[in-house]
Amino acid sequence: MSTVTQLSYEEAVAAFEPVIGLETHVELGTNTKMFCGCPTAFGAEPNTQVCPVCLGLPGALPVANRAAIEATIRIGLALNCSIAPWGRFARKNYFYPDMPKNFQISQYDEPLCVDGYLDVEIDGETVRIGIERVHLEEDTGKTLHVGGATGRIHGATESLVDYNRAGIPLVEIVTKPVPGTGARAPEIARAYVTELRDVIRTLDVSDVRMEQGSMRCDVNTSLNRPGAEWGTRTETKNVNSLRSVERAVRSEIIRQAGVLTDGGKIIQETRHFHEETGDTRSGRSKETATDYRYFPEPDLVPLAPAAEWIAELKAALPELPRVRRARLQSEWGFTDLDMQSVVNAGAVELISATVEAGATAASARKWWLGELARRANETETELDALGVTPAAVAELQGLVDAGKINDKLARVVLEGVIAGEGTPTEVVAARGLEVVSDEGALTKAVDDAIAANPDVAAKVRDGKVAAAGALVGAVMKATGGKADAKTVRELIIARLS
Ligand SMILES: [Zn+2]
Repeated sequence: MSTVTQLSYEEAVAAFEPVIGLETHVELGTNTKMFCGCPTAFGAEPNTQVCPVCLGLPGALPVANRAAIEATIRIGLALNCSIAPWGRFARKNYFYPDMPKNFQISQYDEPLCVDGYLDVEIDGETVRIGIERVHLEEDTGKTLHVGGATGRIHGATESLVDYNRAGIPLVEIVTKPVPGTGARAPEIARAYVTELRDVIRTLDVSDVRMEQGSMRCDVNTSLNRPGAEWGTRTETKNVNSLRSVERAVRSEIIRQAGVLTDGGKIIQETRHFHEETGDTRSGRSKETATDYRYFPEPDLVPLAPAAEWIAELKAALPELPRVRRARLQSEWGFTDLDMQSVVNAGAVELISATVEAGATAASARKWWLGELARRANETETELDALGVTPAAVAELQGLVDAGKINDKLARVVLEGVIAGEGTPTEVVAARGLEVVSDEGALTKAVDDAIAANPDVAAKVRDGKVAAAGALVGAVMKATGGKADAKTVRELIIARLS
């Protein structure tokens, strides 16, 4: 490899302006495939969910899945698109072993949904991402390369094909080019995919699991000198986590800036993102539309969704995430900054469920963004995978509010809940964590502390109330931390005044 100037990210975005674009594939959660009645369940034995249609056997004829068309229209409506009153499926011709028909049924110049947008928020600012089109197609099968160390075709001794996925309805959502993002391009790309995932999850048309491949993202990136025409773009394929979306854009900006700084040219090509190294590597040179020899699919009737049907679907759309967040923020009485930290932590739904379970919004936020976020961070776990349910958090706060435990004990109780010892109430009982609320026992501990610290007691008697802290500490120590510090303080001051 020839040596290329290695710029820092800051140098790259100071010298060049990025233009990004995102193509996202979403596998729909329909019960059956796009053009046949085969089931779509994930994880079945290979090649058990196939039939003559999705295997491309001679003479088999496709029939379009109404539920998939409906889901696509709903996605289009949620993304503020116009729904085409008429359109046809098209054949995209190419050979690939995981595609038994040697063509894919897709949509070409007559997509179902066009010209919409999705607003995403970055640091309290709204960025509008234009949506070029949303179209419906069928997924391909899956190739498995066996015998090599990497699972890639190079070095494999044999390759196997599983056609269970062939023909599963796939929606492709293509943004318009997004210029003007500057140094925030990677962040904005990630925010867009996050928001899109949340919208689709809200519509309940896909489980949008990036790690299982039911949502996959291709990221287009190009660079130009300020004021110059847009540069040649590359397409980084199948980026399969939110974090990778951000890293892929960032690394591609750095790479292209290095090439351009050396006077080189960017080649229009497909690249692959590598999780381990965080960079992209050249794949194949990019085909153009003419290579695919698109033509209208002759085996399917045109799509002509009735205006009344579209209006019905639009009226029945659920509350979308952005609107929901605004409503919750006002119900919870959070400032913009409070809410932003909740969104950034991915805790909106957790807090919402905790409030529904009876906690106040402020206490729910305190636990999820405080102690629980800290533990998630320490163990590199997601908040919702910690093993603590919103109901447990609400119960914990209830115990604090009732004076049964204090904040410090509550953290110990959480430890027990995370360790799988049961609900907060069960952990309190099993570990004997309930605070000492028995007046007699507390009074004795207070008297002992005063007797053991006569100098401090004298100071408090003289009006130096701040000195009482040392006595409170002594009582807390004597009770193993199981006293309510505020009550103890009151008792001490009452005793010494
Ligand atoms: Zn089938």
